[in-house]
Amino acid sequence: MRWLLPAALTLLTGTLSAQQLGPGQIRPRPAEGRDPEFPPPNIREYQPRSTLVTGVHLVPRAKFPTIDFHGHPPALTSAEAIATIVAAMDSLNLRLMVNASGSSGERLTRQLEAVAASPHKDRFVMFTTLDLRNVGPGSGVKNAAELEADIKAGAMGVGEIGKGFGLSTRRADGTRLKLDDPELDPVWETAARLKIPVFIHVADPSEFFAPLDYHNERWLEQALYASRRYQDRTRFPAFEELMAERDRLFARHPRTIWVLAHLGWHANDLARLGRMFDSMPNLYSEVGAILYDLGRQPRGARDFMIKYQDRLLFGKDSFQPDEYPYYWRVFETFDEYFDYYRDYHAFWKLYGLGLPDPVLKKLYYGNALKLLPAVSRSAFPR
Ligand SMILES: [Zn+2]
Repeated sequence: MRWLLPAALTLLTGTLSAQQLGPGQIRPRPAEGRDPEFPPPNIREYQPRSTLVTGVHLVPRAKFPTIDFHGHPPALTSAEAIATIVAAMDSLNLRLMVNASGSSGERLTRQLEAVAASPHKDRFVMFTTLDLRNVGPGSGVKNAAELEADIKAGAMGVGEIGKGFGLSTRRADGTRLKLDDPELDPVWETAARLKIPVFIHVADPSEFFAPLDYHNERWLEQALYASRRYQDRTRFPAFEELMAERDRLFARHPRTIWVLAHLGWHANDLARLGRMFDSMPNLYSEVGAILYDLGRQPRGARDFMIKYQDRLLFGKDSFQPDEYPYYWRVFETFDEYFDYYRDYHAFWKLYGLGLPDPVLKKLYYGNALKLLPAVSRSAFPR
């Protein structure tokens, strides 16, 4: 049987590099086994320019006023800092930013007061944060009381609950704090009673947990950032272990409004997130830092975003104003084969999804307004 031949060859030669068939290759090519006549470039040196001539539609400003549900602006404690951020937001048509670098107690109050005293009080929403260090008996009730006080003070949600929760945060007894630790049940139930969103970032891309070999899609990124390697099972749980804990947590608190950061790291498997949406009516998710996955599957991602248009929020994560227009271009245009802004996230090109206006409106602000009922609707189209 001919199709067995390449696999058999690979097994026989058993060596790396030139002898191994590449992805999608069905038989050895005539040049197989040859060495290039010139030293091959390394992964960072090879930057071929595209010769493709096709339409270019840059989108410096979002088509509709936008809410960034996953904002990490500099601390909003001075009038100057607030004015600088607002100027950048204006140029992008970012109408409102959720400060997802949550703060609690006095730090929260100071930022709320600074924003309220500025001419831009309707441009920011503050979230509270949970202190999940040294959780032990009684922590859940205490955390829930702090949460309720912060919401009374003016916070409109919880989060961002960082990836340390689940990955590395320890309980007072030294064991890993699991996402579904029952001690924290009072916190999630309090959020449900107050009808506020809980914005949670669980784990990181699955490749950060997978063997770091030359088949890993995020090899370069992990080679650059030691803190993104979670292969050591004596220190970190497996990706699927975290997903299972997360799913049990969500299932146990179906009345809590969960907002999963980064499409739950399922942007590379949208059907999986779709099944979660189907079974959990109170689940939402935002699109921060996974543009490279949407933009490489423009047809599937477009279908997905249309099907789940009531559950998706715009979010950017790190506040780099010059990066937002890449999001607008992917969501709003049908442009083809254009560059992403970080080579270590994605060495491939992006394509536009050309989302219809009603879907864009929900993604950019409509769904966020649903979760933030105290925000004034007046700046947003109906
Ligand atoms: Zn974040």
